[in-house]
Order: sequence, then structure tokens, then C-alpha cells
Amino acid sequence: MPMYAFHCPTCGNEFELFLRPSEAFRGAQCPACGEHTLEQTADGPAASPGPACDLSKKT
Ligand SMILES: [Zn+2]
Repeated sequence: MPMYAFHCPTCGNEFELFLRPSEAFRGAQCPACGEHTLEQTADGPAASPGPACDLSKKT
């Protein structure tokens, strides 16, 4: 199951949850304050470090 990173704008908590893609937001809840309105800090499964490594390869 993919892991998603979230940021809670209500209490500032940052956490990661294992969720199905179809319920990534609907099933997400802040473990600190219970807020359901969350910001996803990673685009999809947090398995890739991002495109940063591509910069050095740029021709
Ligand atoms: Zn919170």
C-alpha cells in the first residue's frame, strides 16, 4: 500500500499514512487534532526523491 505524506494546516503536524490511492484524502485524518482537511506534501507515493537528481544530468 502506498504511503502518502500530509501536512495539517490546523495544527502544523506533518505525518505519513498508508492509504489506497482512491481514498488518499477521504480516509486521511490528522492523528494529532483529527482534522480531515489536509495538504498532501508529496505527489503520490513517497517513494521517489523527486527530480532533483536530474539537474546534474541536464545537458
Ligand atoms: Zn492537525
